[in-house]
Amino acid sequence: MNGADATEGLIDLHTHSSCSDGTLDPAALVQLAAERGVRALALTDHDSVAGLPPAAAACRAKDVCFVPGVELSCEWRGQEIHIVGLNVDAAEAGLLEYCAQLGRLRRERMQQMSERLSAVGLPGAALAAPALRVPVATRTHLARSLVAGGFARDLQEAFERYLRRGRPGYAAIAWPALGRTMECIGGTGGVAVLAHPHRYGLSTSQLAALVLEFKALGGAGLEVSLAGMGRSDSDRVQTLARRFGLAGSIGSDFHQPGLPWRPLGRFAKLPSAISPITTSLGLTSLGL
Ligand code: AMP
Ligand code: MN
Ligand code: MN
Ligand code: MN
Repeated sequence: MNGADATEGLIDLHTHSSCSDGTLDPAALVQLAAERGVRALALTDHDSVAGLPPAAAACRAKDVCFVPGVELSCEWRGQEIHIVGLNVDAAEAGLLEYCAQLGRLRRERMQQMSERLSAVGLPGAALAAPALRVPVATRTHLARSLVAGGFARDLQEAFERYLRRGRPGYAAIAWPALGRTMECIGGTGGVAVLAHPHRYGLSTSQLAALVLEFKALGGAGLEVSLAGMGRSDSDRVQTLARRFGLAGSIGSDFHQPGLPWRPLGRFAKLPSAISPITTSLGLTSLGL
C-alpha cells in the first residue's frame, strides 16, 4: 500500500467470486463490499462471466454501482499475462465462446496437474476433484486441496512446493495470445486494463515493451494501485501510465476473507497525477 495514503477504497475494480477461484458467491461478495463502504465494484473472475448477472442483481439491491468485468489469462512473449476487461457485455457470443474454450483448456491442464502430483506420490485425482467440479479449474482450487490434505501449511506453501512453474505439480497451458484477448475484450465493447503489471517479474524495458504493445492493441489502463502493492512498484507502474498516456485502475484482487493480503476494498487511492479509468467507465457522476 502507499503508506500514509492507504485508506478505504470506495471503488474496487478487481475481485473474484466462487465462479472462479474466490470463495464467496457473487451475492456474498457484494454484501461484504457494501459493508466495507465500496460504492463501485467490478467482479473480474478468471476466464468467466458466469457471476456477472447475480453480482449485478446484488449490487442493485445494495445500491452499489456495478462494473461487469472479467480477468483473462493470455500469453505475451512466453509470459503469462492477465488482462482485466471492464464494462464487458456478459451476453456477448464471442466472449462466451472464448471463456468456454479456456474452460476446456483449464480442465485438460488440471488433469495433467493431477497426474503430475500422482507421479510424486500424492493422491492427484482426489486433490484435483474439487477443481474439476467447477467450471473454471484453477491452481487455487488445487492449492486449497493440498492445504486441506495436509500437504502444505497454507496456499503460499502449496504454490511454492507444488504449483509454481517448475514445481512438480505444474503444467503449462497454451493461453491465447495477447492480441486475441484484446480483440475479445474490444469485441464486447469493454475497456482493457493490464492487471498487476508489477507481478510478472519483467525488467523495466520488458514491461515498457509490453505496455507499448498493450496500448497499440487498444489497451486503456494499468493497475497502479492494488492491495499489497508496494510503493516502489506503484511508482514504477505510474511512471509507465504517464509515459504511455494510459489511465490508472485500482482494486484489491480479493479472493477470500481471512487472507491478510488482498483485502476487499482496502488499498491506496488513485494518485491524483494519474487519470482515472473511471472516466472511461462512465463512473464520474458518482464523484469517484
Ligand atoms: P491459474 O490461473 O489456474 O494458473 O491459477 C492462478 C491463480 O493462483 C491466481 O489467479 C492466483 O489467485 C493464485 N496464485 C498464484 N500464485 C499464488 C501464490 N503464490 N499464493 C496464493 N495464490 C496464488
Ligand atoms: Mn486468482
Ligand atoms: Mn491475475
Ligand atoms: Mn485477479
